[in-house]
Amino acid sequence: MRIDIVTALPEIVAGPLEHSILRRARQKGLVDVRVHDLRRYATDKHRTLDDYPFGGGAGMVLKPEPIFACIEALKADAEAEGGAVDEIVYLTPDGERFDQRIANELSMKQHVVLLAGHYKGVDQRVRDVLVTRELSIGDYVLSGGELPALVVVDALVRLIPGVLGDATSALSDSFQDGLLDAPAYTRPATFRGMSVPDVLRSGDHEKVAAWREAERLHKTRERRPDLLGDE
Ligand code: SAM
Repeated sequence: MRIDIVTALPEIVAGPLEHSILRRARQKGLVDVRVHDLRRYATDKHRTLDDYPFGGGAGMVLKPEPIFACIEALKADAEAEGGAVDEIVYLTPDGERFDQRIANELSMKQHVVLLAGHYKGVDQRVRDVLVTRELSIGDYVLSGGELPALVVVDALVRLIPGVLGDATSALSDSFQDGLLDAPAYTRPATFRGMSVPDVLRSGDHEKVAAWREAERLHKTRERRPDLLGDE
């Protein structure tokens, strides 16, 4: 899978890509994540990326020209390599709410471009013409789309087969099948007087699975009844 992140602040996204699961997935060649600095596509002397909003009001707007130039170059590259960009995602608080279902869907694409906005956001013509999907990571407003883009990258990459050491791990995570995950324990078996439930140390795999399933249901009913359709 290939993911391109288009941003005015490439430094923000660089760090997390260099650690842990994202780093290993890239090293193993399971995902190719490339970061594109929008400023390289600004053509004026000062490499301007933003401008005042028509109609006045607070906040600058990201100009359309560098974004069109960057994304058109990415599309042309993909075509030259015999492929195509499957989805151009703009991260925005007024987008569709990102969730595990969308992560699963996007993780099956070959090539996804993530566009991070800033200030008041991007010029509407970018959204009208280039963007194929708009995603929000939650009902709050951040200053830029870099952290949301990283959230999407992380959620997608861990679903790519071969990325997690144990392929079944992602399957039992919260939301994957509509339930929250069960509690997890590790050694020591007793810590400050608190003991691990006996069933987890019984060695009886069926009983462990039944206990986990019951815990998942219980937790989901308590915390997220909406997931069970019982709100
Ligand atoms: N004027 C926009 C609005 O009210 O919908 C907010 C712009 S926000 C200050 C700047 C950028 O941060 C956005 O263009 C977007 O890329 C990113 N952003 C902020 N909050 C986000 C969220 N909840 N989900 C996804 N992206 C977000």
